[in-house]
Amino acid sequence: MPRPTYPVTLINRHTLSSNTIQLDFQVDGEFDFIAGQFVQFMIDHDGKTHKRSYSIANSPEAFRADGHLEIAISLVKGGLASELFSQADLGLKLDMAGPFGILTAPADHSGQIVLAGTGTGLAPYRSMLPTLISMADNGIPVTVIMGVRHRSDLIYEQAFRDAAKQHSNLDYQVCISRETDVDENINEFNGYVQERFEHLNLDTGSDLVYLCGNPNMIDDAAKVLLDMGFGVRQVKREKYVYSGH
Ligand SMILES: Cc1cc2nc3c(=O)[nH]c(=O)nc-3n(C[C@H](O)[C@H](O)[C@H](O)COP(=O)(O)OP(=O)(O)OC[C@H]3O[C@@H](n4cnc5c(N)ncnc54)[C@H](O)[C@@H]3O)c2cc1C
Repeated sequence: MPRPTYPVTLINRHTLSSNTIQLDFQVDGEFDFIAGQFVQFMIDHDGKTHKRSYSIANSPEAFRADGHLEIAISLVKGGLASELFSQADLGLKLDMAGPFGILTAPADHSGQIVLAGTGTGLAPYRSMLPTLISMADNGIPVTVIMGVRHRSDLIYEQAFRDAAKQHSNLDYQVCISRETDVDENINEFNGYVQERFEHLNLDTGSDLVYLCGNPNMIDDAAKVLLDMGFGVRQVKREKYVYSGH
């Protein structure tokens, strides 16, 4: 059944990293979502309506408080949505469909949870952060792993560092693939997110791993996990495939 659409208005835009912006939308109507889900914006161009999917980056609790939906967009040169969202005046009105997706926190789980993302693939984990904190406080080890090429690509860094500092069961690690000048004392590592799995004392019988973002990272990371003995249903994936294709 098609999801209803909601009119949204662009109310704010700011820079998150060298190539990433955050957009804040005011949503009209009775919209709600589960942390980790995504929405689709309808963009009219050349007589057609093009759909572009984006994870919701703020928590349901934050959204319910002010009605603002936060979206993190990694800009693609010449991309339809990228050009529109980087240049549009505040006040831009669009239709939005959703929520969609099942990359959501488990209702009931007792093993370790690892959430790995590249670039804006961290956005759904930021949306889940209050849930992850409450799981960690209830004794479930939670590890968030952010993968970027350069340190300047990191987004929402402080929120995760603060959460890790304040909640002993919540760990935050950064993998930087194209810089060797890293500080392992603050959980910065050179390499790819999937290279961290062997260091996490994973239990293939009880743990859950989330992968979000670059499709190549997800394929490579899923292969590592399946080779370790994880079942397919223990590896939850959300690939940011290009919507235009
Ligand atoms: C479920 C889901 C959730 C998503 N969530 C997010 C999100 O939270 N944040 C986010 O930034 N994106 C997200 N995406 C990707 C997003 O939907 C768009 O595909 C992306 O923003 C590019 O759209 P565009 O219109 O700017 O480029 P398009 O007009 O679609 O593409 C223009 C050109 O750029 C190429 N291209 C497109 N994307 C890339 C890329 N990433 N790298 C290199 N070349 C590219 C295309 O092949 C094409 O030639 C998500 C995708 C899915 C399926």
